[in-house]
Amino acid sequence: MTAPHQSDVLIIGGGIMGCASAFFLRQRGLSVTLLETDLVGRQASGTNFGNVRRQGRPLYQLRLANRSIAIWRNARELLGTDVEYLQRGHMRVCYRDKPEIAAKMESYALDAGQADLDLEMLSGNALRSRFPFLGPEVLAASLSAQCGHANPRLTGPAFARAAERLGAVIHENCKAVSAEKDGGDFHVRTADSREFRAPTLLVTAGAWARTFVEGFGETAPLTSRGPNMCVTEPLPYAIGPSIGVATPDTVESIYFRQVERGNLVIGGSMQNQTFPEDYRVYIDPANSLGQWRQMQRLFPAIGRVNIIRTWSGIESYLPDDQPVMGPSGAVSGLFYAFGFCGAGFQLGPGVGETMAELIATGATGIDLSHYRIGRFAQN
Ligand SMILES: Cc1cc2nc3c(=O)[nH]c(=O)nc-3n(C[C@H](O)[C@H](O)[C@H](O)COP(=O)(O)OP(=O)(O)OC[C@H]3O[C@@H](n4cnc5c(N)ncnc54)[C@H](O)[C@@H]3O)c2cc1C
Repeated sequence: MTAPHQSDVLIIGGGIMGCASAFFLRQRGLSVTLLETDLVGRQASGTNFGNVRRQGRPLYQLRLANRSIAIWRNARELLGTDVEYLQRGHMRVCYRDKPEIAAKMESYALDAGQADLDLEMLSGNALRSRFPFLGPEVLAASLSAQCGHANPRLTGPAFARAAERLGAVIHENCKAVSAEKDGGDFHVRTADSREFRAPTLLVTAGAWARTFVEGFGETAPLTSRGPNMCVTEPLPYAIGPSIGVATPDTVESIYFRQVERGNLVIGGSMQNQTFPEDYRVYIDPANSLGQWRQMQRLFPAIGRVNIIRTWSGIESYLPDDQPVMGPSGAVSGLFYAFGFCGAGFQLGPGVGETMAELIATGATGIDLSHYRIGRFAQN
């Protein structure tokens, strides 16, 4: 029988959270092994829309989002490859039948300014002259010029390969099937009967984290849904910012961005059913048609452009729409970063840097109190 593989930190899950954590842990000199059931960055982290937006989050999350955007801006140099991060802005718009949303956006912009997120409110001629393609229903907008979008298919693997160049060991097609603490070390077994040991275990298993959480006697009521994505044939490149509708009405919550090759990527509105145990999510064609109707309201000039592909991915949710991030409340040496809902792609690099800091030094300047696993414990 071969001896178990030993490292300082063992990571279960190779999405953007796990891969970025591996990268920053190696930067801090800790030895790292990462186990991934599938290929790195192929699940939520590789199927998402690609928004690198900060607005629309709770204000307490902006410090983490700011930490992340600083990494996004430097991604090419840091990772040695282009992840197509375009800092061309992110804009939220609201419709005339919901003027109260404009008031909320205005008040959020004032508060966000205190947290280093500059938002420009636009309406009337100022909005129409800069964004003449917006439909007549659009009343006002909040523009963050310092945000943007990136290519999700490139980002997780880019962190993984950069982590490997720094010495991280990454096992793809390697599913962790059990994890327990035995003496001072965590002991993880894989589906192909390999054994890995480490004094620190980081669970970044996205929508699949629950098994491990419950195995260590904790609770995380994790569910999943499949946001619907479409991409159109290419059009002349003209739209820099990623644009979305701010609304409490899920059906009209559409968003889109244009990549430099010209295609429009569209997301939002209704979601698909997921089957995480089978690694499956099936597109309901009605969701794509519904998105198209909403796009015609937001951007009537889209006319009769063809959709060339639709897809979805498995996005994990917790009841308060916030992740679990930080140390376990029950087992020393155990850490979690999962359940990032619809905002985890932007946060990923900052989460990796923060988890590495926390694991390597025992502390972080980022306030993790909102993300404690203990918030779901039964009283
Ligand atoms: C369609 C869609 C659109 C989205 N749009 C955006 C957006 O525009 N902007 C934004 O900020 N966020 C967006 N999100 C959310 C964002 O993608 C996620 O919050 C983020 O990618 C979560 O990263 P993760 O590493 O936690 O999860 P994942 O990327 O799902 O990674 C978890 C990994 O763990 C692996 N794993 C699970 N169990 C095991 C095991 N037992 N052993 C080994 N490995 C295991 C899985 O195979 C998987 O690769 C979107 C999500 C989806 C699905």
